[in-house]
Amino acid sequence: MQISNSYLQLGDDFYLPSTPRQPSNPQLFLWNQGLAESLGVADFLAQEQEDPAGFFSGGRLLPNSKPVALAYAGHQFGHFNPRLGDGRAHLLGELRGDTDMVFDVQLKGSGATPFSRGGDGLCGLGPAVREFIMSEAMAALGVPTSRTLAVVTTGDEVYRGDAVPGAVVCRVAASHLRVGTFEYFYAQGNKDAIERLCDYAISRHFPELASSEGPEKYSGFLRAVFSRQVELVCEWLRVGFVHGVMNTDNTTISGETIDYGPCAMISTYNPNTVFSSIDAMGRYRFGHQPSIAHWNMARLTECFLPLLDQDSKQATAIGESLLGEFPQNFEQRYHHMLASKTGVRLQGDSDKELCEDFLQLLRKQGLDYTNSFDSLTRSLIDPQHEDRCASQWPEWYQAWSARIEQQGRPREVVAEGMRRHNPVVIPRNHHMEAVIDECIKNGSPDAAKSWLKVLRRPYQDLPTTPNYQDPPADGDRSYQTFCGT
Ligand code: AMP
Ligand code: MG
Repeated sequence: MQISNSYLQLGDDFYLPSTPRQPSNPQLFLWNQGLAESLGVADFLAQEQEDPAGFFSGGRLLPNSKPVALAYAGHQFGHFNPRLGDGRAHLLGELRGDTDMVFDVQLKGSGATPFSRGGDGLCGLGPAVREFIMSEAMAALGVPTSRTLAVVTTGDEVYRGDAVPGAVVCRVAASHLRVGTFEYFYAQGNKDAIERLCDYAISRHFPELASSEGPEKYSGFLRAVFSRQVELVCEWLRVGFVHGVMNTDNTTISGETIDYGPCAMISTYNPNTVFSSIDAMGRYRFGHQPSIAHWNMARLTECFLPLLDQDSKQATAIGESLLGEFPQNFEQRYHHMLASKTGVRLQGDSDKELCEDFLQLLRKQGLDYTNSFDSLTRSLIDPQHEDRCASQWPEWYQAWSARIEQQGRPREVVAEGMRRHNPVVIPRNHHMEAVIDECIKNGSPDAAKSWLKVLRRPYQDLPTTPNYQDPPADGDRSYQTFCGT
């Protein structure tokens, strides 16, 4: 295990040095052994005969770690803030994983930094457990995401209305480059920094662009970032994820999900679902996420206008044309995703309609998104589910069955294919709340660990899976999330 600090070489306007706060009594609460092994952290700890709690709470520094708080700006709910930055996080450095990819290792809740703007820089145990469970569940679902290596309780209290136990999350991400990092330098008119940042982003995320130059490089870069966002949002829609705070400072260049603050899962299918208490206008509602990703990409594109062409009119035209590709690329990928969930091969518009009609039925009948697609998948191989689906959606099910038959693949093969896109279990909101409450009440991670066993196999029926499949009694109508981390 060798910590590197490549980000620091970009220059000192990209970050500010900041030392994590000393916790009074760091105790390991949740640990991700698989991730620790793939990063070489497990071997390092075994050699040193050290407990992870010290290193992953900020109490002790890993060898060669030079902790910093990253500088970035961002559009929050549409409004630009030229200086946000890591106000409660410390980048410890980078580690090379067993696939040779380099990952950022970051602590969150590790104390105030020069970017804290009056905030305490801390994190409660509840939001820390939530981030661990959500990110690990998303990773197992196959959605691009940051991971969580550890949650360590600090032994200190944090005040969030009431006193709550404090914790530090150790987050591992492909990088922490955000749309907001580019906006930070664009707002300062620092074209040179944008060029350097772009080269750095290419080296970490898009090495295939390394040999391109000039305007071609920049349009290639924008296209590559757009394409990751299209993929990401389609994956969110596939599993029913609502990010909740898609501000440009929470939008990664790598295309990973980060910042599991007020996120939640939909139960009843409704594109207007919004859970976040601070999203009164529903800007970040479930079905609006593709448009917001597009809007965020427009903010990124603006930062590149001076690099796309010397003539500003020409640059705007190039930017607009690149952005114009986004909606159609999204539509294409989305229909493909929906068809995979429905088991249909897209051979024409009528196939698209068939898939869309299913969503309309779920909407009209107020049905659970995950369980409906699960039942549809099982109906191909299980007569009980077949009867249930046939009576729930008499006309549609007949049309669908006929189309599946016509497309000529054996039912088991279609079911197997659908299963890869339709989880049997997701991190449902009411279970999340119950598990977090239990963890805090008992001061024990057991409830989280039992659930994680199931969430790590979201496409399989384990003996304890049925404990977590029930939709919430009220369809989550009154469920609210908060930006608590
Ligand atoms: P987020 O909601 O995580 O996207 O955070 C938005 C901005 O607020 C970032 O600059 C954070 O670092 C900052 N922030 C959020 N919570 C705190 C806190 N408790 N202390 C200091 N800064 C914070
Ligand atoms: Mg953030």
